[in-house]
Amino acid sequence: MLDPAVTLAQAGGLAEHLQRIGVQWLPTADPDAAAALAEHFRFAGSGSPDQAADQAAPPSSASAPPSVQPAAAAPPATPVAGASGAVQPSVGGPAPAFSLEVDSADPAEPYPGPSLASDARAAELAKFSEQVAACTRCEILSKCRTKTVFGEGNVSPRVAFFGEGPGRDEDLSGRPFVGKAGQLLTKMIQACKFAREDVYIMNTVKCRPPNNRNPEPTEIENCREYFQAQLEILRPEYIVCLGLVSAQALLRTKLSVGRLRGKFHQYFDSKVLVTYHPSYLLRNPAAKKAAWDDLQLMLRDAGLM
Ligand code: SF4
Repeated sequence: MLDPAVTLAQAGGLAEHLQRIGVQWLPTADPDAAAALAEHFRFAGSGSPDQAADQAAPPSSASAPPSVQPAAAAPPATPVAGASGAVQPSVGGPAPAFSLEVDSADPAEPYPGPSLASDARAAELAKFSEQVAACTRCEILSKCRTKTVFGEGNVSPRVAFFGEGPGRDEDLSGRPFVGKAGQLLTKMIQACKFAREDVYIMNTVKCRPPNNRNPEPTEIENCREYFQAQLEILRPEYIVCLGLVSAQALLRTKLSVGRLRGKFHQYFDSKVLVTYHPSYLLRNPAAKKAAWDDLQLMLRDAGLM
């Protein structure tokens, strides 16, 4: 049975997401229609539909613009392309015992500046991509690389996947996650009922470290301006950090993936989820179950399962 409080909270989250990606107008909720809908679902448990709506509503208008009505009139969830791929047989299994709390005592700080429309986002990203292609901040990486790997995908995504750095296949093609690890990431994305084109995929450093070593801290700091600018343009609702390097770089922490998994963190007003890198999952297939648990945490929060 649908939980009205969860449904209304998810509608509110979607309304915030639409506003963040530049949708400037949403229809105003019709209170009579909302009441009729509430009656239709015959809310379970204690309390009236009105009480349920009160519980689900944001505590104040601070988290949503006054013109946005996170109620029955909000449009349905963003349609996503279906796909049959699955990470492992445990898809759809029982919920993991994870916290749904955001790991921040403070309210989310909004991304600075205005949220751009999609064509302006694409233009800004193209500009940064050109800068990256000419970048020589890291002496070793800029000499070793074949191509820089800026990132690709939906410029108004609900989800951005944030990896470590290009490998050999990515260095040759100039595209993120196209090797074996990329194929597994594509399956993970498809298991979430997204197509690759629905999400944005990017890395912490844009040049391949030699012999696939981890990027050095100085290289990460050199590239920070680029990945931060990307995220500021994209403003995804969720950022999925793939592995230790991206998680530690984004969240400025020294904690392990094991300590960071299982709850949401905050990066401006994006919710950040940390899970294992697909390369790690290829070497340790037993960890796929845990990675799928992580993705399900996001899917449930996003109202997509
Ligand atoms: S890794 Fe980033 S900062 Fe370093 S050379 Fe490449 S693009 Fe420039």
